[in-house]
Amino acid sequence: MNLRNVRGIGKVTLEKLNRININDVNDMIFCFPKKYEINYIDNIENKEINKQLILKAKIIDQPKLYYIRKKLTKLSLSVISSNLKFTVVIFNREFLSKILKSGDEIVITGKFIKNYNTFSSSNLALLSNFKGGIIPQYNLKEISDGRVHNIVSEIFKSDIQISDNLPLFLKNKHNFPDIKDTIRKIHFPQSIDDVKEAKYRLAYEEFLFFGVRIAAIKKMNERLFTPIKKYNIELVKKFINTLPFELTIDQKEATNDIFKDFKKKTRMNRLLQGDVGSGKTIVSIISAYAVITANYQVAILAPTLVLAKQHYDTFLSYLKNFSVNIELLTSETDIRERTEIIKRIRMNECNIVIGTHSLLNEEISFANLGFVVIDEQQRFGVEQRRIIREKGIHPDILMMSATPIPRTLAISLFENTDISTIKEKPKDRKRVLTKIFDFENIEKAFRTVDSELEKNRQVYVICPLISPNENTPKISVNEALKMFKTRFKTAKIDILHGKMSDEEKTSVLNNFYRNEINIIISTTVVEVGVNVMNASTMIILNANNFGLAQLHQLRGRIGRNNFNGYCYLIVDDLAVDLDKMKILEETNDGFVISEYDLSIRGPGEVFGKLQSGIPNFQFANIVTDTKLRDIAFSDAEEILNSRDSVSKQIYSKVIKSIETYNLD
Ligand code: ADP
Ligand code: MG
Repeated sequence: MNLRNVRGIGKVTLEKLNRININDVNDMIFCFPKKYEINYIDNIENKEINKQLILKAKIIDQPKLYYIRKKLTKLSLSVISSNLKFTVVIFNREFLSKILKSGDEIVITGKFIKNYNTFSSSNLALLSNFKGGIIPQYNLKEISDGRVHNIVSEIFKSDIQISDNLPLFLKNKHNFPDIKDTIRKIHFPQSIDDVKEAKYRLAYEEFLFFGVRIAAIKKMNERLFTPIKKYNIELVKKFINTLPFELTIDQKEATNDIFKDFKKKTRMNRLLQGDVGSGKTIVSIISAYAVITANYQVAILAPTLVLAKQHYDTFLSYLKNFSVNIELLTSETDIRERTEIIKRIRMNECNIVIGTHSLLNEEISFANLGFVVIDEQQRFGVEQRRIIREKGIHPDILMMSATPIPRTLAISLFENTDISTIKEKPKDRKRVLTKIFDFENIEKAFRTVDSELEKNRQVYVICPLISPNENTPKISVNEALKMFKTRFKTAKIDILHGKMSDEEKTSVLNNFYRNEINIIISTTVVEVGVNVMNASTMIILNANNFGLAQLHQLRGRIGRNNFNGYCYLIVDDLAVDLDKMKILEETNDGFVISEYDLSIRGPGEVFGKLQSGIPNFQFANIVTDTKLRDIAFSDAEEILNSRDSVSKQIYSKVIKSIETYNLD
């Protein structure tokens, strides 16, 4: 059925729908609610701190409005609810201050914080406007939820056919109802059980199709042949003996995994994951050296200039007595030198080349590339990984990442990937003490800055924006600069952000390295790899705008020495943000944080858009729904072996989507 023929859809609505890619009736009914508002008024006897509640209340005083800072207002209401008096606060609802008055009956959604005197509300409605029950929320651009509800009801009134995505044998196995029934429940649930039942089936389908994809990739990716790397173990041992520290057990195991791969006839495709500062780099240096003793060249790919240089220095200093030829190739390398380096790479006169995206340039061809290390691999796209790989004949690949990736995801993202993990950090590593404050309490963080500056330690300040923007309460680098100059009058302060030229950035960073800057105010450009041992403190402004894994990565810049690090996360609304972020106060284990982050935001958000092949699940949770995932994955294997037409259709669709980007 054409959308135009649905009752109530006129030209204007049709255009709005088309703009968000809803072009026919099928698109419309497969546009599912993002979430549900479950509106049953709670009994205040069940009151509990930090538990989401919906309460009926009566306003007993004139509402008060506070301007906290630009774009942030707080409305405060005295109310009575079941004989209990308390204050309701709600942010950024200025207009309500004009509408609400003493005596009004309202319904508030939110939670009690700290004690029962303050209720932090995320939603507030007049009792007369309050709709009870389960209300689907679609959150579409330009089209209200009520409108969507009406359109979908009209479609269901007509006798619409919906084709089932599942082969019959799986439908029967799981006793799934007709798909139409499931879709109806997702749009018009009568109970929470309806929602659960429908979501279960839709999550199953998401896992199933993802599972077919993984199974297909495994089947296609027969391992590629690569020459064995006959490294000289005596030289490698000699090198390891020169290290100023003993490798941790995890580092030794990771190194062993890699060395075993070198001895295999099939290409290494290994992900080395470990928290920031866990010591991945040295593992890559040992491996690189081994490959060199086997007479192959090594390429190290880093996502930023700063990081490439840092690696260059590190590799040079560790390998200085081992007659290894190391070159750095970046956008800063001048043309003459560049030509020279490219020649040396081609003539096999250079053993290791370290660089940024410049390494991907087609002018660069290796005599004999045997091993590629991709640092912070999540910063590189599939295409870039392919290009560097093709500069050798199936070179062994080691990818490094500080954001741990669950195994199932890793298989899909990097084809057949083996994983080594460094969990344990080098001993004597100090903790980063993390505290979450709101802006009203930022002074507490400033006092630590005072005392750390006193000790001649350095400070990072991270902002979500470069320049001021009227439309958001987010603080920019420029605004923060003013704020810090006013508060820390004698400190040397400078800024760093992505809009500066590479030259400017390098100069600021160099000054920071040399301790000629006390406080550096920056965007997240410092996220990756910057290593200034003397920095002890980090303040992240509007921290609630960043993902948890990213915040953890950021704070990894401090606590790199044998003194304590301090990280302050300054959030907009403590009542909302503390809950989501307190895991950062509680643990320094990046694996715990990343899993938690994944379970909340989903892989697409955590790993970013660069990584194709990330499943875009609406219902399934790859981290927490492990039971359903296992069931669906084993069913997926059956689909590959089934001859019925639906199974075959699924398989060929999946194969097509893989071919578009994921092949060697
Ligand atoms: P990552 O790349 O995993 O973030 P790095 O390799 O940069 O971490 O290591 C962080 C710091 O720890 C470096 O200064 C390194 O020299 C040091 N380090 C690495 N391994 C050990 C170890 N086994 N014992 C003590 N220090 C180590
Ligand atoms: Mg690193």
